[in-house]
Amino acid sequence: MSTEQVSEVIKSNNIKCPECKGALGDVYEFNLMFKTSIGPGGKRAGYLRPETAQGMFVDFPRLVKFYRDHLPFGATQIGKSYRNEISPRQGVIRLREFTQAEAEIFIDPRIKTHPNFTEIADMELTLYSQEGQDTGKSEKTTLRVAVQKGTIAHEFLAYCIARTCQYLLRVGVSPDKLRFRQHMKDEMAHYAADCWDAEILSDRFGWVETVGIADRTDYDLKAHAKQSETELTVYIPYDKPKTITRIAIKPDMGVLGPRFKGKAGKIVSALKDMKLEDLTGDFIELTIDDEKIKIEKELVNVESVTEELHGENIVPHVIEPSFGIDRIIYSLLEHAYSEEEVEEEGKKETRIILSLPPEVAPVQAAVLPLLTREELIKPAREISESLRKKGILTGFDDSGTIGRRYRRNDEIGTPYSITIDYQTLDDGTVTIRDRDSMKQVRAQVSEIAGNIYDLLYSGKPFEDAGTIV
Ligand code: AMP
Repeated sequence: MSTEQVSEVIKSNNIKCPECKGALGDVYEFNLMFKTSIGPGGKRAGYLRPETAQGMFVDFPRLVKFYRDHLPFGATQIGKSYRNEISPRQGVIRLREFTQAEAEIFIDPRIKTHPNFTEIADMELTLYSQEGQDTGKSEKTTLRVAVQKGTIAHEFLAYCIARTCQYLLRVGVSPDKLRFRQHMKDEMAHYAADCWDAEILSDRFGWVETVGIADRTDYDLKAHAKQSETELTVYIPYDKPKTITRIAIKPDMGVLGPRFKGKAGKIVSALKDMKLEDLTGDFIELTIDDEKIKIEKELVNVESVTEELHGENIVPHVIEPSFGIDRIIYSLLEHAYSEEEVEEEGKKETRIILSLPPEVAPVQAAVLPLLTREELIKPAREISESLRKKGILTGFDDSGTIGRRYRRNDEIGTPYSITIDYQTLDDGTVTIRDRDSMKQVRAQVSEIAGNIYDLLYSGKPFEDAGTIV
C-alpha cells in the first residue's frame, strides 16, 4: 500500500494508537538517513553514513590481501555518524551527529571458538539475557557458563563482550553500573544471529545502551557482493584435497549469444547456477531483469565432471562491536563526579571531584608555583617541560590562591598537582598532592617525571612517591 492508502485505511477503520488510544495522524515516509546531493548540479542522491561500518566492508578485498587470506581478521574505524533522530533531546545521549568507534571482525562461520577464550572465560559479568528480561532479572555469571548454557551464542561473541567490559571499566565506568543486555528476538536486526548491548546506568537517563555487539552473519558482505557484482570471499585451503563429482552446465553460446546479445552474459550465469532437477522439461524458463525467457533444453549441455578440489571460497561472518563514544564519555563523567564537604582554614566548603582514571584525564599533572615570582616560575616551567617530554599531559596554573587551584584541578579530574615553593629552592623537593585522598608527599625534583609517570601508568602507590607530609 502507498502511504496515502495506509492513511485511508486508518481513517476509515477509525484505528487508534494502541498505547494511548489517541487519534493517529497521516502516514508519511521516514528515512533515518540524511539525504543530500552529490556534485555540481546535484543530480546524484547521496546519504550521510548512519554508521561507520560499511566503509570497512567496502575495504574487504584489501583486508583479505593484507591478512594473507587468514581468518579471523578485523579492521577498526572511528568517525562521525549521522542519523535523523526524531527526538534528540537528551544531551549527548541522542545526537543527530555523533562519534562511533566500530570494529568488523571477520570469522570463519564454521569455527566459532576463539583461540584466546580461556583468557577471559572466568570473567564474571552481569548478563541480562532474553530469559532474564522475561522475568525481570539480570544475573552475574562467567562467560564460560554463559557460552556452555547457550545464553551467548558462541565464544567469539563472548570474547568481544569481555574485551568491551574490560575497556569500559578501564576508562572509568563503575562496575556496579554496567550490564550486558541481550536483544530480544523482536528487536534484533533481521540479519543478526545474536546481539548484546553494553548498558550503563545513568542517574539522569536510567540504563543507556552505549555499545552494541552483534553477530551480523554474512549479511553485509553478501549485500555488497550482490550490489557491486564482486566476489567477497576468502579462499580456505583443505588439509587434504577432495575429489568431487559435479554437474557442469554448458550453454550453446553459438546460438544464445546472437539471440540474446547484451543479456547473454546474465542468462549464462543464471543457467550455470541451475540444479539438475530444474532441467527436466523440454524448455528452461528464466527470469532476467523482470523478463521471462524460455530456452530450448537442447541448447544446454549437461555433463558430469570429476575434479580434485584443494580448497573453497567462503563468505566470512562478521562480529561487530560498535561503541558510541559520546555516550561513554557522558557515562564516565557522571560516574566520576562527586562532591564532598571539606574544611578550609576553618571554613566549610564543597569540594567537587572528578575521579577520572589517570589514563583518560585530560590533564594528568598540574604544575603550580606557589607565588607568581620569577624564582618560583622558572623551576616550575622546567618541571612542566620535563613532564611534557615524558609524554605526560601537563597543566600550568599560577593564578589565584593555591587552595583555589587545587579545587579547580580536582574539578577537571587532574590526578596529581605539583607545588613549587621556597623549600624547592633550598632542598630540590616539591609537594605532590593526590586528587582523591588529598594526601601530600615531598618528592625530589630531579626524579619528578619518572615518579609521576609511574603513579599514572605503573600502579605505584602514592605513599611510595615521596615522604608523607
Ligand atoms: P547502533 O548502530 O544503533 O547499535 O549504535 C551503536 C552505538 O552508537 C550505540 O550503542 C550508541 O552508543 C551509539 N549511538 C547510536 N545512536 C546514537 C545517537 N543518536 N546519539 C549518540 N550516540 C548514538
